[in-house]
Amino acid sequence: MILREANLHPVVRLSEFKRLLRLPPDYEFEDELAGHVTWVQSWFAAHGRPWLNAVAVERCAADGDDVRLDGVTVHSRELARRFRKARSAIVVAASAGPEAEAEAAVRWQADEPDRYYFMESYASAIVEALIAEARARLCAWADTQGRVLLPHYSPGYHGWSVGDQAKVFSLFRDENVIGPLEVMDSGMLRPKKSQLAVFALAPVGEAAAEPADLVPCKYCPHLRCDFRREAYALGA
Ligand code: SF4
Repeated sequence: MILREANLHPVVRLSEFKRLLRLPPDYEFEDELAGHVTWVQSWFAAHGRPWLNAVAVERCAADGDDVRLDGVTVHSRELARRFRKARSAIVVAASAGPEAEAEAAVRWQADEPDRYYFMESYASAIVEALIAEARARLCAWADTQGRVLLPHYSPGYHGWSVGDQAKVFSLFRDENVIGPLEVMDSGMLRPKKSQLAVFALAPVGEAAAEPADLVPCKYCPHLRCDFRREAYALGA
């Protein structure tokens, strides 16, 4: 296990929260809705217990649209693109924790659909922030090894069946995942505000030759990152 962190408090950008609430970026929260924002932020700070785990996976290779991850074969053309040069990976499990899901259910039962919706959306934003935090930390780790992280891909994304979720989770093997996290028969995760993500690791010298959408750092929002490769600066 190369990353095992509980009780994290990732920063949720208001712009991300608005996007997940399906509101325009320039929307101004007022009155009751502003109260919901304050409530969900305070609730999460007091009761949320988001966590992150990551394991290194060696012996990775693509064969057509199949990808072998240390003996576990998954099927995704988009993931396979990342393993043309990459030979190893880091698999991340991130969760907003079961507390938010329970609180959302309480709000639904109490006939408070707005608070239910705000809690669900904020928990989604927390998971996105956790993946971004994982990326930042793991980039530092990869740098010490002469490797770079390519943009992650997850079961359930376009062209990758959520049915592969159990296979990806199996890569944690006997490692003690903070949890609770369960892959249901449908492939969905419980708690539902959780995510598994595969970051391919490419040798530094070869990553620059990747297609534009896979070039490390190019679209990463961590503008002040100490490990940013300037040649790939945002928008370059
Ligand atoms: S800017 Fe580059 S090195 Fe820094 S976190 Fe983003 S992808 Fe990683």
